[in-house]
Amino acid sequence: MEKLAIKGGTPCRDITKQPWPKWPVWGKEEETALLEVLHSGVWSYNGPKETEFNKLFAEYTGVKHAICTVNGTMTLQISLEALGIGIGDEVIIPGLTWQATAATVIDVNATPILVDVNEDNWCIDPKEIENAITPRTKAIIPVHLYGAFADMDAIINIAKKHKLYVIEDCAHKHGGEWNGKKAGSIGDIGSFSYQLSKHLTAGEGGSVTTNNPELADKLDALRNCGRKPETTIFNPLDKGAGDYGDDDGNFIQSGNLRITEFQAAILIEGLKRLPAQNARRNTNGEYLNSLLDQIPGIAPIARDKRETKKAYFNYAFRYYKDDFNGLPVATFRKALEAELGIIVGASYEPLNNCSLYVPHTKPSRYKLNDSYWKAIDPKRFSLPKCERIFKEQSVCIHHKALMGTKKDVELIAKAVKKIYNNSKELLD
Ligand SMILES: *Cc1c(COP(=O)(O)O)cnc(C)c1O
Repeated sequence: MEKLAIKGGTPCRDITKQPWPKWPVWGKEEETALLEVLHSGVWSYNGPKETEFNKLFAEYTGVKHAICTVNGTMTLQISLEALGIGIGDEVIIPGLTWQATAATVIDVNATPILVDVNEDNWCIDPKEIENAITPRTKAIIPVHLYGAFADMDAIINIAKKHKLYVIEDCAHKHGGEWNGKKAGSIGDIGSFSYQLSKHLTAGEGGSVTTNNPELADKLDALRNCGRKPETTIFNPLDKGAGDYGDDDGNFIQSGNLRITEFQAAILIEGLKRLPAQNARRNTNGEYLNSLLDQIPGIAPIARDKRETKKAYFNYAFRYYKDDFNGLPVATFRKALEAELGIIVGASYEPLNNCSLYVPHTKPSRYKLNDSYWKAIDPKRFSLPKCERIFKEQSVCIHHKALMGTKKDVELIAKAVKKIYNNSKELLD
């Protein structure tokens, strides 16, 4: 028997000799673009790079309007605000997602309704959406999680039937496609993040996408202190201090959520790299699925045939300990990490028990009244599938692991197999 790396054996991958592909990816193009911005002195405010990126991202996503802003949290918040969602309204979201999907709902004084997910792809379960609808429901926020896509056919049908808005949380899905339509072009608004770990990044940043011109105007204003959208590019330093947009002043109350030209410059170059990167992650992801599928107790995330283009943010798979002599998933992850020299994590914490989603720590902000205080208590929601996924099944690796060669992917499967063959060693 081979000795496991976690027990002092030789790891499957020696990262001093074979480092994993680097993330983020950048080159001369980014250097040149950043210097161009630096030397221009136009560092922010509807500059040429931002204007160009908005145009390119709208084209890429297949929508009429894309507007970039500070991050993928504020994109969700301004989407809710643009749709007029707030006090008295309920928004249905999956229980398994990053905390921002819920936090932005309470930040507009609405009530997040947490529902369970499908166990085979970890995305929101349309049946659970239907069960959660009340006369107060205004919107659904499906999240296209990790390598999967929420069932947009079912979700759009439900939304039409009950006259609900759909905000797609596409923080994991830049470039992903459902029935030939890009993520972010199917619902009323798409919300994207460019945070450092995401597969299109400027360190921080985000975009909203929509085909609706009125929503686009509102979204534009909401990220720019409420000013009416400005069609001409100008240097704000040339404007007078009292010169606020159009003559009739503010369009809608808001604050400053603008991106900088440095970020936009990086995003333009990153977007050029994205299609080839997505294709490579898809090829490697599909191959890794086929290899892991042969190991008892391991199940890849289901691939839906309606997903016509795959986009991976992280690579996730399911683990069943019964086939590993009862080895807990946390130990499995540690052992895999030791074999591969890359961080192996769990899924997001379910939002009904999430250390970063704790509205009751801030009564000054959220205790609007007693019934609202009760309604936003995350613990009132039952999410058995989310809990099982998080506590017993989830294994997640950063998407850079899919950016190398076929051999890299074979090594991941080899490491999983090694732990399978030696799981008893970890139980004593
Ligand atoms: C990253 C992420 C966000 C928030 O994006 P930030 O840019 O980090 O604010 C929202 N939803 C999901 C699902 C995410 O993964």
